[in-house]
Order: sequence, then structure tokens, then C-alpha cells
Amino acid sequence: MRIIDSHAHIFDSPGYVENLINAMDENNIERTCVSGLGKKFKCMDNQGIKQILGQYPDRFIGAYYIRPGYNKVEEVQEAYTQGFKMLKITLPKKPYDDLNYFPLWESAQILKMPILFHTGVVTLLKPAKQEYISSWYMHPMRLEPIANSFPKLNMIIAHLGVHWNEDAAEVIRMKKNVFADLSGAPMGWRVRADKIGMDHYLWWKGAFKKIVFGTDVFYTQITQILKEDMVRLDKLNIDHETQKLIFSGNILKMLGEK
Ligand SMILES: [Zn+2]
Repeated sequence: MRIIDSHAHIFDSPGYVENLINAMDENNIERTCVSGLGKKFKCMDNQGIKQILGQYPDRFIGAYYIRPGYNKVEEVQEAYTQGFKMLKITLPKKPYDDLNYFPLWESAQILKMPILFHTGVVTLLKPAKQEYISSWYMHPMRLEPIANSFPKLNMIIAHLGVHWNEDAAEVIRMKKNVFADLSGAPMGWRVRADKIGMDHYLWWKGAFKKIVFGTDVFYTQITQILKEDMVRLDKLNIDHETQKLIFSGNILKMLGEK
């Protein structure tokens, strides 16, 4: 089965890219969608990602990092021209559904760039005292007005909302163009959700067809996360066709490759 990791970041540590490629090879991961979140998250920035895309065009899909309220709308077109195929959004100045940000979403829709939205509580290495950062601004329900206004824009709710799992699930159930990933660190939100039963949240027929595989961990943890995902899907008797959508079909379709 083809595997594409839809959610990963390139950390700013020596040899990270090579180590990540080794981890991808070990786990049979064909390509990874990568973004740089900059110093705040000990990551590379967009320029670093651009270089990596040039070096390894067959292994990485670039997600350009945008902070609504801080980046200009023109950057979306520029990123596309530079070879980025997706956007990664987090830490907005105002809520995601603020009307001031609609030109960003419109631009992404025109360029057919799917958007990966961070949702749920945000973990910063250091509190950003100079900025007003609110996880409420990143509630999954904030994507509802965006999904309504831009029905051809594909969106991914990262981490199924972390702790807002029910709300995130409801958005992907109701909105055709909204998907979710179950990415997250070992011992993170997934432990609670698995204990309750991921199918408690994703309860309707075909719910798992709205999931895309993503890791969002340091390269050393990829093997564990992928294994946990495969075990979970088998335990829940998710059929092979749905698993194909999760591990590659959905993201390939969003990227216009199928
Ligand atoms: Zn992430």
C-alpha cells in the first residue's frame, strides 16, 4: 500500500532531512508533506523548505507556512510559483474565520492548494509574551464558515482537534471539503481517544474515509506512530479501500494527482 505522510515538519537540527528520509525508507513512506514553522517551534523556515524541495523533489511535498494576520496574501501565489503545493496554517492574529483572512483562502482555492490547519491547544516552547496567541482562534468550528465560502478548497483539521475531537468530527462529517488527520506525539491526545475508541468520534458510516495519514512527530517516532495507526485501523476493521484513501488516496486527490 502506498503511504504518504501528510503532516510533518523539518526540525532545525543537524542531518534532520537525511534522518527523515531514512525513517521514510524504513517505513515505506513514499513522500512526506513538509513545512517549516520557524524558530518558535525549533523548525526550519519557508526558505529552508524551498531548498529541500529543490534537493529532493521526489520525496517531499512543500506546505508553505502562513500565519494569518502576519503574512501577506501575495505570498500564497509566490509560494505556489516556487513549487509549494499546500499551505500550513497556525497561530493566527485573529480567529481563522475572520473575514480579513478570506482573501488567503480564496487564493488557495484558486491555486488548488489544500490547507493543513493546526487545531486545538497549541504548545509553544516559550510563551510568546509580545503576541496574543489563543487556541480558541484555532477551534475546528472556525473552519465551518471557510468551508461554506470556499467549497472547492480542501482543508485538513490537524490532530482531529486535539481535545475538540467531537467538534472536529462533526465538521468533517458535515463538510465535504474538510478532512482530518490523527497525527500527534506518542502519549499525546491519541492515547485518550484510543482508550475511548476513535470510532466513538468517527462513528458514522464511512467516517474514516475523511481521514488522512499524518505523523507530526520527530523522525525517531515515525515508526511508532505509523504502527499505532495501522493497529488501530485493523482493530476497528477498517476495510482496505478506506485504508488506501487514508494512507495516500485522499491527499493525492487533494493535490490533483489522481
Ligand atoms: Zn504540525
